[in-house]
Amino acid sequence: MSTVETANATANNWLNTEGKPVIIAGPCSVETEDQMIQTAQRLKATGKVNMLRGGIWKPRTRPGMFEGIGAKGLPWMQKAKELTGLPITIEVAKASHVELALEFGVDVLWIGARTTVNPFSVQEIADALRGVDIPVLVKNPINPDLALWLGGVERLEKVGVTRLGGIHRGFSNSSEKIFRNRPQWQMAIDFKTALPNVPLINDPSHICGRRDLLASVAQKAMDLNFDGLMIESHITPDEAWSDAKQQITPEVFGDLISALTFRKHNVDAAEKTQLDQLRKDIDLIDEEIIHVLASRMKVAREIGRAKIL
Ligand code: PEP
Ligand code: MN
Repeated sequence: MSTVETANATANNWLNTEGKPVIIAGPCSVETEDQMIQTAQRLKATGKVNMLRGGIWKPRTRPGMFEGIGAKGLPWMQKAKELTGLPITIEVAKASHVELALEFGVDVLWIGARTTVNPFSVQEIADALRGVDIPVLVKNPINPDLALWLGGVERLEKVGVTRLGGIHRGFSNSSEKIFRNRPQWQMAIDFKTALPNVPLINDPSHICGRRDLLASVAQKAMDLNFDGLMIESHITPDEAWSDAKQQITPEVFGDLISALTFRKHNVDAAEKTQLDQLRKDIDLIDEEIIHVLASRMKVAREIGRAKIL
């Protein structure tokens, strides 16, 4: 048995709330105390959220953008936790982030897509977590590389982190025209196959990059038996300091979750047959093909428009 297989045998579905998917919501970035507290309270009022998220340190693709409020925002997250009674989760990218997160009572850590790509960074986080019992969620790397994603989980498992999870946030693809990060669902299914007892959460916000697609991606994730969702929510989404186009108000978030159909978690034995699995794989490949064709049509329309001008 490899180390990950061993972890898998012991780690249970710690994230599941009585068989229901866990729902994590909160702003992309923590901006001000008022913004964080109001978002948290309005999310709590929906009755649809199990955990609050907030970005404290933001890894931005290009310099000069808002790079996060930093440690100053941690007491605001802590206050949001006290006022709502909900656990809190933040992104950590280096050892100093881990230390501060632990100091401020953060309940769950997550590793961002730009960090999962770098084994040195993941190892630095893992080393800081040696002997610490805190759950960690590992986002998929920005590139579609399953081994890198599994490797991130394995580095944490090796230092003794037992409560691990994955977050599927889609994959960067320069030819992508519809999603911000193409979902490539098969990759998420492959993660689940490799680590069947490690909960896998879907992040429709970073997959879609836009509000109008969130509900369909969230439903798709539920249909595929994901263990939860992470969705970005902001009191005034259009004014958000990061990821404005994909954030939704707490009330819109509440409606989105209410409209989802939650499937039964234990699939029937018949559905588990190899033939059924292969059929599902074909469906996912067909979906990818349709998606690539849709992207092509979009480019063709743009060519048409450019010719007219
Ligand atoms: C985020 O969760 O705000 C974030 C930066 O996500 P990702 O690492 O998926 O890009
Ligand atoms: Mn974001």
